[in-house]
Amino acid sequence: MRLIFLGPPGAGKGTQAKLLTEKHGIPQLSTGDMLRAAVAAGTDVGKRAKAVMDAGQLVSDAIVNEIVSDRVDSADCAKGFILDGYPRTVPQAEALDKILAGKGIALDAVIELKVDEDALVKRMENRVAETIAAGGTVRSDDNPEAFKRRLTEYREKTAPLSSYYASTGKLQTVDGMANVDVVTAEIDGILEKA
Ligand code: AMP
Repeated sequence: MRLIFLGPPGAGKGTQAKLLTEKHGIPQLSTGDMLRAAVAAGTDVGKRAKAVMDAGQLVSDAIVNEIVSDRVDSADCAKGFILDGYPRTVPQAEALDKILAGKGIALDAVIELKVDEDALVKRMENRVAETIAAGGTVRSDDNPEAFKRRLTEYREKTAPLSSYYASTGKLQTVDGMANVDVVTAEIDGILEKA
């Protein structure tokens, strides 16, 4: 099963993707996680991406297209994968179509989590407070200014992907403001039919 999650930062894409990886035995491919790992490892890509990520802006399409193309070739993606945080722009979606076609595979579904942006800012503040309380490290782009810039980036560059995937007939929309279990059940229902 090959899936994409769409939705603004903090919509719960990562949470739902993690649940599905356990249920279906397929990996979650988060470009944000891959880029953070590259930053932590101090690779060339990491060095180029860090300042852009800290500012809440988008890393170049060339970088993310390449890391995704390489990653889906791994053995653990043979049964499928869940893309989380990619594609983020229409040109990335077009590149992904070409990448997958070149490998002889295609997407099964695109699930969009619809959420209220004001509530997202509150969710982000709660997530930071919980992480700090648990003694964890807060992401360097988890602050209100960078978060709002990420929301603006989403609205301007990623939201148009809804129409892109609607036109392919693959888009399914779920109310991301509902509680986690309800969202999970709705996604399960969609995937049974996909
Ligand atoms: P995320 O964890 O998905 O919120 O991603 C964190 C940051 O990584 C984003 O704010 C971007 O700077 C960068 N990033 C992640 N995925 C992409 C992507 N598909 N295209 C461009 N930049 C990305």
